[in-house]
Amino acid sequence: MKINKKMAVFLCMALICGFLVLPVQAATFMNCGDADGKITVQSYKDKYSAKWTKIIDKSIAAWNDSSANVNISVSAQSKNVIKAKRYNDTWYGLTTQTHNKTSGYTSKFIIKVNTKTIKAKATNYSKFARSTVTHEFGHVFWLADNPNTKKSSIMKYDRDRNTMVKPQQFDIDNVNKKYK
Ligand SMILES: [Zn+2]
Repeated sequence: MKINKKMAVFLCMALICGFLVLPVQAATFMNCGDADGKITVQSYKDKYSAKWTKIIDKSIAAWNDSSANVNISVSAQSKNVIKAKRYNDTWYGLTTQTHNKTSGYTSKFIIKVNTKTIKAKATNYSKFARSTVTHEFGHVFWLADNPNTKKSSIMKYDRDRNTMVKPQQFDIDNVNKKYK
């Protein structure tokens, strides 16, 4: 599309007035997340194939081995669950957090991962899946979708899911603002 002077002025005005809905979301943080960054997730090893167990293991390790002040451990008693299966939806992953309206602290979360959309879009299935799971854990640590930054982020929609499997420095820095 060729942008002439008139259009450029219109676009600037539109941006100033805010009546163009931009695809970029400015928020870095969500309105909810875990209180101290030490979370548990119900054991998934007996539920899934070795392939999926490994995907989740590696996504958990990506956070635990990073310099973010967080820890994810697997516990039989945990209320928090991770579900990987075919969902008839367009998303790759979806995290639902039950949280306190005032503090924003999450008391329970469910991470759903859609094997259908991942299979349809991935060129590297394992990495694409890991990118999705790592991203979903980011939500539990307060990180919002698609932060408005030029920096690399696991929360960005346009990241290459076939290669980016770990939280990036931008993500770690933001998580550590919540967990000092
Ligand atoms: Zn997300």
